[in-house]
Amino acid sequence: MSVPLLDLGRQYSYLQPEMDRAVLNVLAHGEFILGPEVTQFETEMAKLCQVKYGIGVASGTDALLIALRACGVGPGDEVITSDFSFFASAGVVSRLGATPVFVDIDPDTYNIDVSQIEAAISKRTRVIMPVHLFGQIADMDPIMAIAAKHDLKVVEDAAQAIGAEYRDRPAGSFGDFGCFSFYPSKNIGAGGDAGMIVTKTEKDYKLCRSLRAHGEDPKYYHRIVGYNSRLDTIQAAILLVKLSHLRGWSEKRREHARKYDKAFASAADLKIPFVMDACNFHIYNQYTLASGKRVEILERLQAAGIGHCIYYPVPFHKQDCFASLGYDDAGFPVSSRAAEQVFSIPIYPELTEQEQTEVIETIMDVVS
Ligand SMILES: *Cc1c(COP(=O)(O)O)cnc(C)c1O
Repeated sequence: MSVPLLDLGRQYSYLQPEMDRAVLNVLAHGEFILGPEVTQFETEMAKLCQVKYGIGVASGTDALLIALRACGVGPGDEVITSDFSFFASAGVVSRLGATPVFVDIDPDTYNIDVSQIEAAISKRTRVIMPVHLFGQIADMDPIMAIAAKHDLKVVEDAAQAIGAEYRDRPAGSFGDFGCFSFYPSKNIGAGGDAGMIVTKTEKDYKLCRSLRAHGEDPKYYHRIVGYNSRLDTIQAAILLVKLSHLRGWSEKRREHARKYDKAFASAADLKIPFVMDACNFHIYNQYTLASGKRVEILERLQAAGIGHCIYYPVPFHKQDCFASLGYDDAGFPVSSRAAEQVFSIPIYPELTEQEQTEVIETIMDVVS
């Protein structure tokens, strides 16, 4: 029996009536750009994140880019972020002409090691951008304290953490900005690219809204140059349907994670995800294991037709495009080791018990 890493077709099979209706309704009303579904989805995302405003944008990457711009990040500035994430978390900093400053990760959570942030702060630092990797929120209490002490802005890369909670507060509610992605493999996926910024003040809201539409304010008047990065109405209609299922889907993922945790607890050379006490609701965008026997395990999964992926094989400090920043491995023992050992396995809500058993047995065959 083969088990895909993700199977969105299963989701569509039960969402079809609702999703088709939502999309066809947009085709009929014809407000393709910033139509009513966009506004409604922005409102619902703001509510979910317990903040005042949402700004729908074209992707998670653009959400980060626009949030950093709104923080005033530009040439000569530095942004502190994790060394271990999807490329966008670092790429957006460079695209603004600023310099990403990488910090090694915590060996248990794979999130930024907060004990190393202060040493990375310089006169040029403007923003700390933690990433809530795999669906677990970074250690936000100390991060917010450091930011307050040094008068820095905080942008949460919450692309993988929609609906996750830390001390009972949702992702996106901590920083000046929270950035979400609805790339199809995220916990709520659009029918293509889509993203969202959430924020607390009217000033930040207006600035992000202006930046996503060429910097206009009012229409056809430009004090700044922005982007063309609006959330499509059709995507918002799809996302509204899916948002109503988010909590149930998260619970399912957590259930699968508990089952995996239990099955793998006794395995030799297999590290199960560590969840901080403060992170009371991990949403497992990925279920990520680590093992010194990764090559062998992945070969076995491959042979059995079981989906798997390495998130991420190359930490930022090793990427060719950042060679000019002059990093070497010395400052990044943890992210370097993680890149050599981690791998992720199927965790989507619709995964069946039988499939999960197959995944467990295939892996345990190597490590028990
Ligand atoms: C997916 C992702 C992004 C980028 O989102 P897109 O919608 O693909 O542009 C940024 N950061 C992290 C951590 C992600 O997982």
